[in-house]
Amino acid sequence: MKQNLFVYNTLTRKKEEFKPINPPLVGMYVCGPTVYSDVHLGNCRTYISFDLMFRYLNHLGYKVRYVRNITDAGHLEGDLDEGEDKISKKAKLAQLEPMEIAQKYTIGFHDVMNILNVLPPSIEPTATGHIIEQIELVKRILAKGYAYEVNGSVYFDVEKYNSTHDYGILNGRNLDDLLANTRALGGQQEKHGKLDFALWIKAKPEHLMKWPSPWGVGFPGWHLECSAMSNKYLGEHFDIHGGGIDLMPTHHTNEIAQNIACCETIPATYWVHTNMLTVNGQKMSKSLGNSFLPVELFTGKNSILNKAYSPMTVRFFILQAHYRSTLDFGNDAMEASEKGFKRLMNAYALINDLKVSATSDVEINALLNRCYEAMNDDFNSPVLIAELFEASRIINSVYDNKLKIDAENLQLLKQLMQSFVIDILGLKDEKAADDDLPQLLNFIVNLRSQAKTNQDYATSDKIRDGLQKIGFQLKDTKEGTNWSKI
Ligand code: AMP
Ligand code: ZN
Repeated sequence: MKQNLFVYNTLTRKKEEFKPINPPLVGMYVCGPTVYSDVHLGNCRTYISFDLMFRYLNHLGYKVRYVRNITDAGHLEGDLDEGEDKISKKAKLAQLEPMEIAQKYTIGFHDVMNILNVLPPSIEPTATGHIIEQIELVKRILAKGYAYEVNGSVYFDVEKYNSTHDYGILNGRNLDDLLANTRALGGQQEKHGKLDFALWIKAKPEHLMKWPSPWGVGFPGWHLECSAMSNKYLGEHFDIHGGGIDLMPTHHTNEIAQNIACCETIPATYWVHTNMLTVNGQKMSKSLGNSFLPVELFTGKNSILNKAYSPMTVRFFILQAHYRSTLDFGNDAMEASEKGFKRLMNAYALINDLKVSATSDVEINALLNRCYEAMNDDFNSPVLIAELFEASRIINSVYDNKLKIDAENLQLLKQLMQSFVIDILGLKDEKAADDDLPQLLNFIVNLRSQAKTNQDYATSDKIRDGLQKIGFQLKDTKEGTNWSKI
């Protein structure tokens, strides 16, 4: 913790020195996925970026309580409290229980995170597991006078809140500006104001996921779950709140309003947002139809791809851009990442074979400091990677007897590579990682089961035949599908 870390805070729109409320403890909350479908590569970018931060904070000696939720209820199709619940809709189509959908995609999400070497958070709470807490929050906001009930639904009164607080504090916009840029009332005509949003929504009879409440049977608004769960596990005021930048204008703005309305304090000090992964300059998004899945990258099975890329190449590709810059997906960029990743890991593999000399042509301390400077400058992973290429050049030169290194500098070089490549960037040598094979196979077998459940037998057969071709046999049993080497 001797390092002075600076973090860009969306709230103040500047880089600020990181000063946790109660060091060495750090509370970090990141909005997790809505488990109605597989996570795409864009989602993975966000979780890899926060994994980098989690790993660096841990490396600095902080004790991070990292909470990343699972949204398994309340996320409607429209962003104005309209449309069906995404999970319920999928469940009806597949003739499954909503919780079967949530379970299936939660497992899929964990599999992908594992393969990409994203560490699990400390707590992974679900929205459906915290209905009571959400109802309590609605009660408190109502008691403070910032919400109103209409016909079994409860709405947050943005104009009333804004008369004493700054609703647009996070994106630096005033209410008139926001009102002018908002389309007419969505869904419920019951709202008093255009910007009002639902805290609790009355369930229509056909709605599958619903709970009793003081206002009748209904379900919580999407923004409420994060306020309730961050409050429960990290307290009323904690250190870091994060998510993709697309969550900032509405989801996080509403979360802040809810927390301030009930607790009179902004929930987090630092608001950290990752930028979007784009394809041909357009945000990767399921609804735009330009998204693809990590497994398609690992197998090369997508027409946009020239070939398959390994999970660590994908992780390296994502880390080669700063988390606040947009990153455009492309085959050339992926191939460059593949080369870069191999160069780094080849150097890493040589480090134990380097000969020690009595004198040293290299001084590793300065390089080590530059690595820390890069990470301290708002987790600047591309600059860090450039420094690690310099470390790789030194390793290769010492190996080729073009440079000498003494014992002390070699020790520092080993420490630098271990800390920054393995612990902080979270990369691993895939050649040595045969132990990951079962994980990868289980992941593919799960995808096949999903295809079967969706009655997509063409895909499930394709996966079985494809695995057979590369030497793995699948056997379907009552308990599930097993794989074995042929
Ligand atoms: P969702 O499940 O849609 O709520 O998204 C889960 C997380 O992924 C959120 O933090 C989003 O901001 C983030 N996200 C969605 N699309 C992208 C993208 N194209 N690039 C980076 N992050 C994204
Ligand atoms: Zn959230």
